[in-house]
Amino acid sequence: MSSTTITPSDGNRTATALPPTVNLHLVAHCNYACRYCYARFESERRVPRTQVDAWIRLLRLLPEHGVRRVTFAGGEPTLLQELPELLEAASGAGSSPRS
Ligand code: SF4
Repeated sequence: MSSTTITPSDGNRTATALPPTVNLHLVAHCNYACRYCYARFESERRVPRTQVDAWIRLLRLLPEHGVRRVTFAGGEPTLLQELPELLEAASGAGSSPRS
């Protein structure tokens, strides 16, 4: 199955011809320290509200463009306090959210 990684700045673009599964990397930090991890984390742990709103707009658009599954990734996506809002936006728009 193919997938596309959409970065936060993509929330303001109009999506076209997307694959059925997309990965949203919500946060660039993590509360684990796995030895094998290659991720580079930012010290800033908060995500601006404008960014969350952009993701919500994006999540509502994705199903219209054929996306049926959204994977939330990071870092550690459960650290984002707005995750329930994003899950609701994805579910309400017809996608199957996973983390
Ligand atoms: S991002 Fe994943 S692999 Fe990396 S430290 Fe966090 S839990 Fe471990």
